[in-house]
Amino acid sequence: MGITMPANLVEVERKWQREWERAKLFEVDPISLKPKFFITVAYPYPNLPQHIGHGRTYALTDIHARYMRMRGYQTLFPMAFHYTGTPVLAMSKRLEAGDEDIIDTFTRICKVPLDVLEGFKEPLKIAQYFHEEIKMGMKEMGYSIDWRREFTTIDPCYNRFIEWQFHKLRERGYITKGSHPVGWCPSCGNPVGQHDTRGDMEPEVEEFTVIFFESPEAILPTATLRPETVFGVTNIWLNPEVEYVEADVDGQRWIISRECIEKLRLQNKVVNVRSFIRGRTLLGKQVRNPVTNRYVPILPAEFVDPRNATGVVMSVPAHAPYDYVGLESLVKEPSRLKEYGLSQGLLEEVKPISVIKIPEGSEFLTVEAVQRLGIESQRDRRLEDVTKDVYNMEFSRGLMRENTGKYVGLSVTEAKEAVKKDLIQAGRASVMYELINRPIFCRCGAECVVKIFEDQWFIDYGNPEWKRLVHEWLKEMEVLPKELIQEFENVVDWLRAKACARKSGLGTRLPWDQEWIIESLSDSTIYMAYYILSKHVNQLRLQASQLTDAFFDYVLLGFGEPDQLSDTTGLSSNTLKQIREEFLYFYPVDSRHSGRDLVSNHLTFFIFNHLAIFPRAQWPRQIVVNGSVLMEGQKMSKSLGNIIPLREAIKNYAADPLRVAVVSTAGLLQDADFSPGLAKAVGEWLERFRNHALDLCVKSKGIEEFNLTRNIDRWMVSRLNTYVNEVTEAMDELDVRRAIQVIMYELDRDIQWYTRRTSSEVDLPMRMEATTNVLRQVLDARVRMLAPFTPHLCEELWHTMGGEGFIAETSWPVSNPSKIDLKAEEVENLAKTLLEDTFNILRATGIAPKQICYYFSAPWKWKVFLKTLQAVDAGIVTVGGLMKMLMEDPELRAKGRLTAGFAEGVFKELSHASKETLKRWLAVGVLDEVEALREMLVFFQQELKADVHVFSEEDTERYDPRDRARLAKPLRPGVYVE
Ligand SMILES: [Zn+2]
Repeated sequence: MGITMPANLVEVERKWQREWERAKLFEVDPISLKPKFFITVAYPYPNLPQHIGHGRTYALTDIHARYMRMRGYQTLFPMAFHYTGTPVLAMSKRLEAGDEDIIDTFTRICKVPLDVLEGFKEPLKIAQYFHEEIKMGMKEMGYSIDWRREFTTIDPCYNRFIEWQFHKLRERGYITKGSHPVGWCPSCGNPVGQHDTRGDMEPEVEEFTVIFFESPEAILPTATLRPETVFGVTNIWLNPEVEYVEADVDGQRWIISRECIEKLRLQNKVVNVRSFIRGRTLLGKQVRNPVTNRYVPILPAEFVDPRNATGVVMSVPAHAPYDYVGLESLVKEPSRLKEYGLSQGLLEEVKPISVIKIPEGSEFLTVEAVQRLGIESQRDRRLEDVTKDVYNMEFSRGLMRENTGKYVGLSVTEAKEAVKKDLIQAGRASVMYELINRPIFCRCGAECVVKIFEDQWFIDYGNPEWKRLVHEWLKEMEVLPKELIQEFENVVDWLRAKACARKSGLGTRLPWDQEWIIESLSDSTIYMAYYILSKHVNQLRLQASQLTDAFFDYVLLGFGEPDQLSDTTGLSSNTLKQIREEFLYFYPVDSRHSGRDLVSNHLTFFIFNHLAIFPRAQWPRQIVVNGSVLMEGQKMSKSLGNIIPLREAIKNYAADPLRVAVVSTAGLLQDADFSPGLAKAVGEWLERFRNHALDLCVKSKGIEEFNLTRNIDRWMVSRLNTYVNEVTEAMDELDVRRAIQVIMYELDRDIQWYTRRTSSEVDLPMRMEATTNVLRQVLDARVRMLAPFTPHLCEELWHTMGGEGFIAETSWPVSNPSKIDLKAEEVENLAKTLLEDTFNILRATGIAPKQICYYFSAPWKWKVFLKTLQAVDAGIVTVGGLMKMLMEDPELRAKGRLTAGFAEGVFKELSHASKETLKRWLAVGVLDEVEALREMLVFFQQELKADVHVFSEEDTERYDPRDRARLAKPLRPGVYVE
């Protein structure tokens, strides 16, 4: 790319950023009769600079904001900074300890100056530095943010807001104190959330049922998520190479993996180890199934992971694909049993036992699925999918079979709970918690486990009534992309009480128990409401002491009287009313944006807490989730050295090309693939677009109403109006890839055709004026549609084009249905195909033509064509039926066999045409092809470099030495070349 472009574009960008700021363009206050749009994106955690991955989420939010602003909404897009938590403390500590890795991150990747680095020993300095860094980046990206509302989560006034929120949650019974399982780092001795783990994984705690299989000496406690399948257990799996222990667990003798000891202790069990045993020494022994009393053997399985739950696994081959494959591999390789001194006879009794039936389904769903796919190894990735499918099918439709005693006829969901409850009551099972998405590692490197945490404060996301409300609201609100709704439903289902405070870190103290600090995923759930207040807090320099609970009760919930509040808050009742009105104007949140990693925590908590605190009218309306960004096909990671900080990328490519490059290569939820080549290509495209625009601005001063006498003009205007519809639809779904595809590339292609078609008329001033005028119309709409994506360049062009005010505040183009001209479009389609076909003939025959003749269909052929179209569209599927209909027409009947022969061919072709094509041709109706082609004769002659003649096939004067006229079909003329 030319060096001048980015430098030039960067200047353009700076200029418009200054202009927007000067005009206070994005400082947004209520305008009573104008509809509003309140859009927010997860506020950044300032412990590192933002990189290109963040660029996608924030740019998409800004594009959405700018689009809605042009659609006429008073659009508020604010920003704040999330200081809460421990990461900056940890970083600061590591820095002080001389940790090479963190020094390298700060100096080489983040390019923090050395003198600044010195100050990083104070944790707050890290947050403040990156806060400014991120803010600069956001300004350089051109985000249309109302910066008057900025705050940090350690501001005293914000602390008051969070205190109020927690008072409310507690009042309403959503805060509990007690013992709950939490994700836990055994090394740090702290509960862990997503922000504390490597790769930002949210620990998902699941409750396993531990079923006791007994041998005379000890209990084998098998951990399972599907206790109802215990009736189908055929054997127990132990890993022969793993060290197990015999231990007294709460007074019972258990055999468990060594790794399980500590886990049970963290879950408040008393564990005394008696002895160590290799898994292999237990193989072949028989243990008793506590529900069927049948004895089943212990068999070897290398796939048993001692770090998962108890390390003892029950095998249910009829319902668990992994078990079935494990069993089959023992059958097929007898040597493996021999290796452990076991006889093959042990397997004779081991046959899948089906305990769940699917109405109209086969008895052995799992077995058949595995066999059909030919899966032979437990390492086969497809097993995961088969397991999921079987699980889903059994949970949605399965019923317990006759061999399940008193549970027969129950649904799987009912049986799961009932079996579990009964076994526990009978002392034949207990529960254990495990992370279902393990392994998860703390940032310190230790593997996270589950701890039952005592005397801790929780937000009770397990509250069934609360869950029900969230499920209900999920049906009302919009989630984009739509397929993500199921993921939200699942998260709501498995969420349970979440530890909401810890003893260290930055943040707000729990108001009733001051040694606790509210953690970062709990103080960030309804802060969008605070953006309305923060403007006033900043402008009026309000003090925390003024923001009493009664203040928040009034401005956020409408409780109390402003007159009475004046005394305690020192705010006039007018000011209070004004804040309340502003809140009512902007709330609820119309759109909440975030990356996908926040679905399982933040975004779901966001819904939960809004529902708990605010009345229904203030519940969130929409959530938009986007995928991440790959760097040339690879995940961005420090070890690969491919993380590009956002500001560095802006320096290299300029903001506008970057914005397009990060949002437009993938569907909303897919990973977008960024590459420097792509950013450069977009930059080059923008440069060409700019030149094209400047060129047009020189030729014409503006758009005039013009009589569109030429087909090509009507075509271009029709295409434009269709595209405006398409782009608007795409933008409403935030399918920005599709929008960019149309605005940039499809319109480019059509403009090329338009230019080519009109190039024969450059010498005719009137015609040229029409051409320029049409192109100017296209440009106007295109610059508007591109403006949310490349706001700086579009602002510059808008200015050059003599547009009024800022394009950011201009209206989005509206499609005019009366300008959509299907006939004009069909004529150009005809011209394109005809030209292409003719070039193909010339290429195939190698003729340098002197003259070319086209013969177009006679009216009766058009009649047959249209009647056949109607017939096919109406569902007539036989030639006989069609003929009957055609022969009702006297003209066609008179032609007899001629009609029949022609109609049969047309029928065959149309039967294969798409519904869309049929509809289009039906709408277009008869085309006067001769007339249409005569209008573009000069163009054809110029393209084909030959004399071109156009005839109707019934034209008696026609020149037709090879009798090609009879070959004419509607939209497909006969051709003669010489
Ligand atoms: Zn740790």
